[in-house]
Amino acid sequence: MAKERKEILSDVKNVLIKIGTGVLSGKEGIDLDIVEQLVDEIVELTKKGYQIAVVTSGAIASGMHRMGLSGKLKSMPEKQAAAAIGQGRLMRIYSNAFGKHGLAVAQMLLTTSDLTDRKRFLNVRNTLSALMEWGVIPIINENDTVAVDEIKFGDNDNLAAMMANIIEAHLLINLTNTKGLYDRNPSGAKKAKLIPVVEEITDEIEAAATAEADPVGMGGMKSKVIAAKKVTAFGIPFIIAHGKTKGVLRDIFAGEKIGTLFLPDSEHMKSRKYWIAYTLRSRGKLILDDGAKRAIIEQGKSLLPSGIIKVEGDFHEGDPVTCVDMDGKPLAKGLANYSSSDIDKIKGLKTSKIKQVIGSKPYDEIVHRDNMAVVKEGKKQ
Ligand code: GLU
Repeated sequence: MAKERKEILSDVKNVLIKIGTGVLSGKEGIDLDIVEQLVDEIVELTKKGYQIAVVTSGAIASGMHRMGLSGKLKSMPEKQAAAAIGQGRLMRIYSNAFGKHGLAVAQMLLTTSDLTDRKRFLNVRNTLSALMEWGVIPIINENDTVAVDEIKFGDNDNLAAMMANIIEAHLLINLTNTKGLYDRNPSGAKKAKLIPVVEEITDEIEAAATAEADPVGMGGMKSKVIAAKKVTAFGIPFIIAHGKTKGVLRDIFAGEKIGTLFLPDSEHMKSRKYWIAYTLRSRGKLILDDGAKRAIIEQGKSLLPSGIIKVEGDFHEGDPVTCVDMDGKPLAKGLANYSSSDIDKIKGLKTSKIKQVIGSKPYDEIVHRDNMAVVKEGKKQ
């Protein structure tokens, strides 16, 4: 197993899988065999404890097939109409395929603007976490009937990138109809080589990605590389792989060298932590017991409610807070996932009690490790 793949996979639990139109469409509309093949592999992963959400394309293709249309649809309203026809059919296919394994699916139709509006964004995140807690597979697509700009250009690549950030995915897999990113256009005359790992998205890498779209309006490799830029900047690894290949997901999780792996930007994490530690002004204090202190300082863990003795200050979720030990010595600064009033209610409790006490549990952690800068001895924060 390649070293970087092994390292990345060892930390993965939440996974977002984007399935492109080119993977799903066959001669007779949506290719049911492919859907079943992928669903079987996804179910296998859920049994191993991975939490999976899916971003799927294919609504337009399915609607076109139903209406007996082929080629490229001319106008935006036609594409939107085709999506409106196809979306229900697409969901039925996923619902049947997952249903065979006893799993329920949930449809989520979003536009990227839903994710830039903070209130809607929080609603989306809460819905998703409730679904995932129930063991339901979220099946996400662009809300094509209202999102005119978005279906112009492979936007599900972008949507998946944004969703990966929202669900704090540890890995985003983009399944498409090529084996990954090639050093030149693979349909060109010269022989193209697959790039197995991209450490940094340089101008060369961007130039290697072609923007050719297939007839049903996908964004080609270019929109995937743009998505890769976002995802890796969030600190999330990104894999582009061939979705029709049998066992593709199994192989990825076995650490096989398939597809193109874009490594997460580790500097991103460093600069984010710097920003948390030195730029943000703390809005409150969490006083931690010795167990939580050890977990944070010695074991690199997140902060859970059970380790909190007391809350000070009045802050909202997302606000920066300082974690101190029982002597008042600062240990870490981080972004709180819950407001001070909610933390006050759940402090000292087990994570499993959060929902019971405050009605929902968008997060297990009060401060996630990724959003936490630990105080170095001798440095003031
Ligand atoms: N949302 C479109 C569909 O379901 C696809 C857009 C895309 O491929 O990016 O057909």
